[in-house]
Amino acid sequence: MATVGILGLPNVGKTTLFNALTGLDAPTAPHPFSTTEPNVGVAKIPDVLLDRVAELEGSKRTVHATLELSDLPAMAGPGHKGLAAQFLGRLRDVDALVIVLRSFDDPGVPADESGVDPVEQAETLLLELALADADVFARRAEKAAKEATADPALKRAAAAIARAAGLLEQGGHLRTAEWMPDELDAFRDLAPLTLKPTVWVVNRGEDDTEPLDSGIEAAVPDGDVFVELSARIEEEAAGLDPEDRTELLEGLGFGVGALANMVEATHAALDLIVFYTLGAKESHARTVRRGTTAREAAGKVHSDMERGFIRAEVAALADVVDAGGWEALKAGGGVRLEGADYVVAEGDALQIRFSV
Ligand code: GDP
Repeated sequence: MATVGILGLPNVGKTTLFNALTGLDAPTAPHPFSTTEPNVGVAKIPDVLLDRVAELEGSKRTVHATLELSDLPAMAGPGHKGLAAQFLGRLRDVDALVIVLRSFDDPGVPADESGVDPVEQAETLLLELALADADVFARRAEKAAKEATADPALKRAAAAIARAAGLLEQGGHLRTAEWMPDELDAFRDLAPLTLKPTVWVVNRGEDDTEPLDSGIEAAVPDGDVFVELSARIEEEAAGLDPEDRTELLEGLGFGVGALANMVEATHAALDLIVFYTLGAKESHARTVRRGTTAREAAGKVHSDMERGFIRAEVAALADVVDAGGWEALKAGGGVRLEGADYVVAEGDALQIRFSV
């Protein structure tokens, strides 16, 4: 399961967002540093098509794809340097970062640490993350240079680490530069924060439904993704059943799925896709890397299926739903046969034929 770390300045709505995503009820409070221990939870990825197909197939069980989230304690702002360092170790373990920026204005929720300008917050956090990596890379660069004098085979690695250290020292993020695979290998055990895929969430006021032009896209590295939402509304909506949730969000002009959008953005950043297996026993969404073949996908379901893979019957889940179920789609010729090397596409439903 992919793991995601949620971070941001104090009182921007991190824990609120975490609660909305996981349906957990971690305490939130209108003062900085209300979070002192990381909350860890599993977000069930909202998936209307999966719910629909489970109904059509009469599945006993529906298994949604999941994402593991850590809600990290408040990121240090200026004057609170110690706190960030204390939790950076946690951040290094996650696959992707979700950075929450506050744009809501609420006199009841102090904004002394963050302000309500997303761009300013993004700049502060970009710098903190770069400096945290710069520290680690500067130390490693020294060591790597010594090792390379003793062993010329280590020269390329040492040069890459030195180049990275230089970039970081300028406040640059490693994901903005080009690296060869062997250079990335040289960084791997340092787990640089600035190399992690990053999703920026702008947390907007609940009355604030006008399109936002915060200039945030220009302020952060190319390729990073953005989502706008109101964490408070999403949290409220998360407690409702799906129909009431849709009604509430649509009624307020928030569309159907800021959370679904956020998860989608995180998946895109991590190069993950979801495929489905369907049946009377269960309808199951499964997360795999983009580029996964049908045989590898079969292995995600059961190792016997990978070993004894013969063929996969494949159709887009949306088509299965439109046709009124798998058998109906198949009867109409809408299901195709694919071999072991077929590259699974986002949203594919697969029936694996195998023999062991
Ligand atoms: P964290 O310190 O970033 O984890 O922030 P919390 O999630 O604990 O939120 C701090 C306070 O801001 C809580 O009282 C929340 O209810 C409030 N809050 C969070 N999101 C919103 C929002 O979208 N609108 C408003 N008005 N308040 C919010």
